[in-house]
Amino acid sequence: MIFAANFKMHHTRQSTTEYLDRLEALLERAEYPFKVMVFPPATALQPSREWITVGAQNAYPAEEGAYTGEIGLSQLHEFEIDTVLIGHSERRQILGEDQEFIAKKFAFYREHGFQIIYCVGEPLEVREQGFEAVAEYLWEQFDDIDIDYERLIVAYEPVWAIGTGQAAEPEAIAATHAELRRRIKRPILYGGSVNPTNIARIAEIPDVDGVLVGSASLDPEKFHALMIPV
Ligand code: 13P
Repeated sequence: MIFAANFKMHHTRQSTTEYLDRLEALLERAEYPFKVMVFPPATALQPSREWITVGAQNAYPAEEGAYTGEIGLSQLHEFEIDTVLIGHSERRQILGEDQEFIAKKFAFYREHGFQIIYCVGEPLEVREQGFEAVAEYLWEQFDDIDIDYERLIVAYEPVWAIGTGQAAEPEAIAATHAELRRRIKRPILYGGSVNPTNIARIAEIPDVDGVLVGSASLDPEKFHALMIPV
């Protein structure tokens, strides 16, 4: 199981360091072989710890250059970061990133050997049209994405389940992950209101290889408590 924490625009550099210290201490005592990843804001990026991979929530597809407000390969190299989140629905919807730009990011960081968590997910209006519409929408989000890339991890995050406290039903997650599994051979994570109450049922779904957690990951003890053996 992979447990990934997406801080979004929460935590500072100082609180991220304290978080990693506390989580590292908890993981030292854990007996289960989890893969743990933390995605802090860009200002809090720092090298990975022994049991915690630190990754970037976003990065521009260039080494450096005239891209005001962005960070690129040079800035990630400074902290030995080689993991990046691409295609999160908040970047697609709020920041207006289209599939062409997202595919460009994917190709760039793939070329540089990064581990990529690639996010897909449908909005509520698509979910309401039924499963076929969902499947079609999700596969379109793989346009120009190399799904056979060996360092790819896919995250399925239904937009309507993110930050709402209402995770998708296990049956819906199972069906969608099974659809993705037809072509995706790499790990597939579920994200969207994962919390201590629903983690056990989500983790036991066969095609769920881990979770990408937002609000329930912001406290290291709470995040660690999600790491149940399955
Ligand atoms: P929440 O866990 O807060 O719903 O966020 C999920 C998410 O978007 C993780 O990337």
